Amino acid sequence: MNRKTIFSTVIATSIIALTACASATPIATTSNNTDNTTSPTSVSNTSPEVIAPTETSNPVSNETAPTATSNSTASMDPSLACSGGKTTASTTMELTEGPYYTPGSPERATLYEEGMAGIKLVITGYVFDTNCQPVANAWLDFWQANANGEYDNSGYTLRGHQFTDANGFYTLTTVVPGIYPGRTEHIHLKVQAPNGQIITSQLFFPGVAQNDSDGIFDESLLLPIQETSAELQAQFNFVVATP
Ligand code: FE
Repeated sequence: MNRKTIFSTVIATSIIALTACASATPIATTSNNTDNTTSPTSVSNTSPEVIAPTETSNPVSNETAPTATSNSTASMDPSLACSGGKTTASTTMELTEGPYYTPGSPERATLYEEGMAGIKLVITGYVFDTNCQPVANAWLDFWQANANGEYDNSGYTLRGHQFTDANGFYTLTTVVPGIYPGRTEHIHLKVQAPNGQIITSQLFFPGVAQNDSDGIFDESLLLPIQETSAELQAQFNFVVATP
């Protein structure tokens, strides 16, 4: 009896052990599968890449930067102040004079000289008061660097002043200035109604990479450049305070 009992106990134990092993194995396998299944977690790694396309939606929003185009469209307004039947306007934005202004420039509307390096540029426009009335005989004084980014600080090359006509109209014929360290392309100017307050400012050019890094640059002073076969043209209206 004892032997039978022992024998059956051994059998029973080994059956239990086998069952345990058998069940344990599947569990292990399952857990392996689970690990493999967890690899889809690496699918969740893929999902960050899926998120990347979401970043692609950022470039799209960068393309929404054309909203900046709508800004630059808005910036067309300052250049054409008082156009389109407007009856009021803010005075032209003032910017620093910089270190290269020389008083007493010759009176001339053409700063361009025959054979001068650079792209010829003609800027036309009006000087208005803040009620959009044209200002006759307004004083405009322009100075700028040459195409190589150099100022004539001993003479008056690319420096000149002029007065608006009876309609408040002016024309400046010059060249596109070059850049110099720290500055983007710009033309300096002073404008003043007779006996009015002088406004000192600068004009800028669209599409110049250095505009973004120039601390003085302001898009409200961008020239709306148009290219003709012979030269560049732009219209810019100034608004000044009258006494
Ligand atoms: Fe300058």
